[in-house]
This record gives sequence, structure tokens and C-alpha cells, in this order.
Amino acid sequence: MTNIGRPAEGQNQWYPFMDRPAPSIVDGVMQNPPVVPVNDVAPLPSSARFVVVGAGIHGMSTAYHLAMELERTGKGTGSDVVLIDKAGPGAGATGLACGCVRNFYMTGPLHAILRASVEVWESDPVNFGFQQVGYVSIGEENQVEDYVRLNESQIASGYPSDLYTGADAHRFLKGLWPDFKTENCDVALHEHRSGYAGTHMVMWGLDQKCRQFGVQRVYGVAVTGYDLDASGSVAAVETTAGRIQCEQVVVGAGAWTPKHWEWLGGPSNLDVTYPDGHIEADMAMWTYWRLLEGEVFLPSGVDYRTADGRDGPVLHVELMNTPVYGRDGEMIQDHVYTYTRYAAERVGAPGLQGGTIPIRMGSEAEVDPYGHLSDAYQADDWFPEYYCRTLGMLFERFEDLEPYFKQRRNGGIGAFTPDNVPIFDHVADNAFVIADSNHGFKMIGVGKLTASMLVHGEKPSELRPFTLGRYADGTTFGDRNSNCPWV
Ligand SMILES: Cc1cc2nc3c(=O)[nH]c(=O)nc-3n(C[C@H](O)[C@H](O)[C@H](O)COP(=O)(O)OP(=O)(O)OC[C@H]3O[C@@H](n4cnc5c(N)ncnc54)[C@H](O)[C@@H]3O)c2cc1C
Repeated sequence: MTNIGRPAEGQNQWYPFMDRPAPSIVDGVMQNPPVVPVNDVAPLPSSARFVVVGAGIHGMSTAYHLAMELERTGKGTGSDVVLIDKAGPGAGATGLACGCVRNFYMTGPLHAILRASVEVWESDPVNFGFQQVGYVSIGEENQVEDYVRLNESQIASGYPSDLYTGADAHRFLKGLWPDFKTENCDVALHEHRSGYAGTHMVMWGLDQKCRQFGVQRVYGVAVTGYDLDASGSVAAVETTAGRIQCEQVVVGAGAWTPKHWEWLGGPSNLDVTYPDGHIEADMAMWTYWRLLEGEVFLPSGVDYRTADGRDGPVLHVELMNTPVYGRDGEMIQDHVYTYTRYAAERVGAPGLQGGTIPIRMGSEAEVDPYGHLSDAYQADDWFPEYYCRTLGMLFERFEDLEPYFKQRRNGGIGAFTPDNVPIFDHVADNAFVIADSNHGFKMIGVGKLTASMLVHGEKPSELRPFTLGRYADGTTFGDRNSNCPWV
């Protein structure tokens, strides 16, 4: 057994990979390991009705719901489902996400996806690590109209939220946190059904559910390609452990999606038509962005509770016209964009986790090794001060958090679609791709909707707007007023 040490200097924390067996090597590259212990792993069978690729939030949710629905309806058994991952649960973005579950989207059709998802989070909050603390989003005057539309759409889709503007917004925020500094906060939205989930907890919960329902969980086996027949359907999945013939494939490959997409014959570039008729020619199908996140300990006597002593809601603040200055008076960024949640289970002590707008990279990236194991794509040097300063701008209690920033790696990249909105669609007639454009930890319900489609044959209405064909037929999304690609 090999142990690996600290991979970088200057870290003030126990590093997650210290004193553990070295992660496995695939094609000469060290893999980000699963975030939970794996038991009873199955060997690769030679054939299966359903092959699900990727044990992240989407692959595991699909496999679990598919197995459950096959058993429930008598249309099959859980063992008809084979789940393959080159490492194991949570080895991709799911294992290191911030875990925020919210419905703050200016893209209206996502509201129904989140309603379906929160129903799954609510179905077993203990085993999914779901904390339904709510979500508060704050903007300036320039976003008031967007918030009004968003609030109406959320209510219509069965996801109630409250909207406050002007003095009402200030009163609402002060009522939650008496030391909140409401300057420039012109609008606030409060989503009651939202919250956050422990990323490792949900991986553990889903893995156990897959196991209980008899899913054949094949971990440590990498997919190397798809054998397409003359009509372009997948006849078999090729792996490092051999071929597996199958009837249906679901791919939930996170940042690795572009590779699987290429293997399945999806386009690498395309013309993108917008609802106003304008066309962006020859856009890259996939663009990588890297996320900027970090964690901070809460010093003794400082907490993130509300005035009535509850765990505070997830907080998201975008003030496009409010600059953030460092201790030396120099501007760090010309805007506030910050999100934060209570994260004791992640920090290892009372603490917060959050981030800011990701940084666009381009259509190429070194995906392996992924996340914390990668020397590239970690949060920039300016991030800790920026994050702590934004919290200090918003709360009196957080005015001096910077010394408590947890110095450790926090990197992660994602593959975004041309309009930064998910694609949930078939690429071949029996290969369905769940490409969440790197904001879909929260979208645990997509796997349930996908399972329903596979068992009952009809694509649920919630999934229908998220086609690949929207770029050709002019229903491309793009309805947003934010500096961030995730709204
Ligand atoms: C730093 C960071 C913070 C985030 N925070 C949030 C948040 O707060 N809320 C939110 O909703 N979203 C968040 N996201 C986005 C979210 O984490 C991802 O969109 C989501 O987890 C992707 O899930 P997935 O199942 O598609 O992919 P992943 O979780 O990446 O899983 C893909 C799996 O596929 C496997 N795989 C890939 N290729 C192969 C192959 N060839 N053979 C076998 N297996 C393969 C990998 O090993 C991996 O386990 C965040 C992302 C990052 C990077």
C-alpha cells in the first residue's frame, strides 16, 4: 500500500489524500478517488439491458431510480442495471461540489427540474445529507425585474419563494441576521424548499441504495469507447475490462462528457441559433470553466445562525455595481459575487464554504487528474481575500475572517454547453446523455426523470426543453442578466 504526502507546500490543513492508499492509475494518470468506501463491487458482465456510465450524482440517481422502478413495475429487476465508473462514487465534480441546492435560475424551464429534484432530496434527507435551510439571493436595482419574473415562474412551477424589494428587503434581511449590512441590497428572494447537501453523504446514500436494489456496481473499470452499429446505435460499451453489450446507455460523465460525446458521434462544433434569429456560427460544443471556491473556519464565538438560532440559509449575493477592495485599499474585483453555506461536514469544524464566478478556459482542458489532485485549475491567489472580504462587507460578524481561511486545494473544472444550460437528450437513439453544464449537483431528480423515460418510454415534460436540437431550431436559452454563467 502506498501513501502519498502533501502534494503542495503552504497548506495549513490535513490534506484529504494524506495517509490514504494512493488513488488508482488509469492510462498512466492518477485518478481522483471515490469519496466513500466501496463494498461488494461487481465484475463487468458481458451484457446488460441498461448500462449507466459515471457514478456521480446523475449516474447514481439514474441507476437507483431505474432499479427501483423496474422492481416496482415488474418490468425488470435491479440487476438489469450496470453502473460503471473508472474510480467510484464521487470521483468527479459531485464529490467536491459546494453542495448548494437552489432554484435561482432565470432560465424558466429549470424551475420544474429543480422542483422534481427537491422532491428527491426531500424523499430521504438523512441518507442524502440534505439540510433544507432555504436559500436567500440578493441583487441590486438592475436585477429587480429579473427577480420578479423568476419569483412568478418559481411559484407557477410549484416551488414557492418570497420576494422582497427596497425597504422590505432590508427588513427581511435584518430579521434573519440583525448584523446584516443591507447597503446596495435592493431585492431579496427567499426559496423555502432549497438548502444544501453533504456531497460525500449523498454519494454514500445513493451507493447504498443502488446496492440494496441490486444494481451491478462496477467500479475501477474505465469506458474506452462505444461500439456503434451501422445505424449509429450503441451495440456495446468498450471498457478496460472488456466489452459489455447493452440495449440502452445513459452517460453522466461530468467534466469527461466531451470525450464520451465524441465517442458517441456528437458534434464538436455547431451553429447556434437564438430566439431573436441571430446565429453564432461554428461554436465549440463544450467549453471548460474552472471554479473558484474555498472554505473558512468560524472563529470561536462566531456562527452562521439566524436571529432565531437556526442554521442559516444558503446565501447568494450578486451586486454588479459594487466593487470589492482588499485590506490595502486596492480593488480586487469591480463587483460582488459570492455564495456561502454552512459547511461543518466539509470543513471538519464549524465553518463556511463558498465561491464566486468561475473562469472561462476554452474548449481544451486536462481533465485528469481531476479536482484536488490536479496541480492546475486551483482557486487563484486573490480568491481567499476576495471571499472573506465579501463576507465582511455583508455581515458585521464576518469582518475579520481572512486569518481563518482554510488553506487547501479547492479546484474543479466543468464542461459547459453553448448556452450554459444542461442538455438532457439522446445522442444516439439508445444513448442518453445527462450533460448538466456543471451546475447540476442540485439536479438529483434528472436521474429519476431519466429512469421514468427508460421504463415507461415517454420523455417526462420536465426534460423536454433540454434538447440538443434547440441550438438548430432557435430555442437556445440565454435569458439572463448576470456576470455568472449559471443563472
Ligand atoms: C468546485 C465545484 C463546485 C460545485 N458546486 C455546486 C453546487 O454547489 N451546486 C450544484 O448544483 N452544482 C455544483 N457544481 C456542479 C456539480 O458538481 C456538477 O455539475 C455535478 O456534480 C456533475 O455530476 P455528474 O454526475 O454529471 O458528473 P461527475 O460527478 O463528474 O461524475 C462523473 C463520473 O464519471 C466517471 N467517468 C468519467 N469518464 C469515465 C470513463 N471513461 N469510464 C468510467 N467512468 C468515467 C468519473 O470517474 C466520475 O466519477 C460544482 C462543481 C464544482 C467543480
